[in-house]
Parts: sequence; C-alpha cells; structure tokens
Amino acid sequence: MLKVRNLSKVFDKVQAVDDVSFEVNPGEIAVLLGPNGAGKSTTIKSIAGLLRFKGQILINNTDNKSVEAKRAFGYIPETPALYENLTVWEHLEFIARAYSLRDWEETANRLLTRFEMDDKKDKLGKELSKGMQQKVSICCALLIQPKMIMFDEPMIGLDPKAIKELKSVFLELKQAGCAVLISTHIIDSIEEVWDKVLIMNKGRIVLNLTRDELDNKGESLEKIFLEVTDS
Ligand code: ADP
Ligand code: MG
Repeated sequence: MLKVRNLSKVFDKVQAVDDVSFEVNPGEIAVLLGPNGAGKSTTIKSIAGLLRFKGQILINNTDNKSVEAKRAFGYIPETPALYENLTVWEHLEFIARAYSLRDWEETANRLLTRFEMDDKKDKLGKELSKGMQQKVSICCALLIQPKMIMFDEPMIGLDPKAIKELKSVFLELKQAGCAVLISTHIIDSIEEVWDKVLIMNKGRIVLNLTRDELDNKGESLEKIFLEVTDS
C-alpha cells in the first residue's frame, strides 16, 4: 500500500532523512520508532506530500503527489491543526467538500458516534481539548475512508484512557485492511499493537523488525532500541 524507496531530505545542511526505504502493507501496523530528531516527522511529511524530497514514494501504486494517492491516505499531524472558529461538523464538511465526497453525512455521524462526540458537533475548534482536537483530526482523516493512514506522535499529551482508546482505533483500522504508520519516540506506548517496527536514528532506518523476528531474538524491544540508537 505504501512503498518508500531511497527517501532523502536535506534541510540547509541537516540530513534529516538519509536513504530510507520501507513498505507498509494493507492491514499492517508499522511503527517508526526513534529519538527526537531521528527524522520521523520529516519522513511522514514527505509521504503526506508536504515536503520536496529525493527518492520515490508510492501510495496504492501511484506517486504520492498524484490525485489518486492524495485520495487514498489520511494524515494526523503531531499538533492537530483545527480551525479555531469552525465547528466540529464544519471541519467534516470542509473535508467532504475538499474531496468532493458524496453522501458523507452518514459516515460523519457514524464517526462522531464512534468517537463519542455526538454532543460536540457544534463546538468550535478553539473550545476543544487536545484529546478532542485529535479525535476531530482522526474523524476528518477517516471520513475519506483511506487505504493508508499516518499518525505523527499521536500519544503525546494524551491521558492513559485516551491512549488506550487510540490503540483500539489502530486495531480497528488494521481489521478494516488499512495500512497504518505511527511515529513515536515512546516505546511503551506502542506495545501490543504493532506488526512491524522501523527503528530510526540520525535519519536512517537502523533496524526493521517484524513481531516474529523480535520474538525470535528473545530480547525486549527497549533493549534492542537502546543498542541501535544513541538515546
Ligand atoms: P523527529 O520527528 O524524529 O523528531 P524530524 O523529522 O522532526 O525528527 O527532524 C529531523 C532533523 O531535521 C532534526 O535535526 C531537525 O532539527 C531537522 N529539521 C526538521 N524540520 C526542519 C526544518 N523545517 N528546517 C530545518 N531543519 C529541520
Ligand atoms: Mg517528530
């Protein structure tokens, strides 16, 4: 579903991402794990088409800048970027228009119910907590029924209950056959849910492990993480 080949990105003199390649398949939860500054956000923003880069990124077998690719993925940025003076419902309406969705209201209502926000439809962006803003951001991403979805550091600033909820969202997306890419620097936060972990350090993927490969190693992810990064 997602194929990243030889992705590199330089900012001024900083090599933020250095020759990164990986794939995420339908129904797979992949985690980009790395310390701050490892290049996770730059990788995700490149995939989302927000940055120029060197290399090739295919989403559903089309170039990530194509219209088809843009219709196929959702992106939840680290800081939810809601409009202060739009209501929750207006955010969904905005996405529906931008993507020329038809008959989207039923899906929107179903998502709001799923995220327990039926009573928040008329709340303005600025009236919502960080956790609520993230839920709106997720609803907006899911409204287009994406085949691939990316979350950048989704656990930051959430309480344990919200983190648990988020994990069940990841698993639902997996069940639905969506390819899921999650970036995080907190190892604990992603236990139980991932199928594949890509450990990033200084712009490179230093280790690509499936769950079976980790089990065969007989070591904790934390120990391996500390061995292959300098954090
Ligand atoms: P992570 O998300 O893993 O914390 P980032 O992808 O945000 O890492 O950053 C990787 C490197 O690129 C860091 O050294 C960071 O300072 C640098 N960087 C990221 N964005 C920019 C930018 N817009 N301009 C200059 N340097 C940047
Ligand atoms: Mg980041």
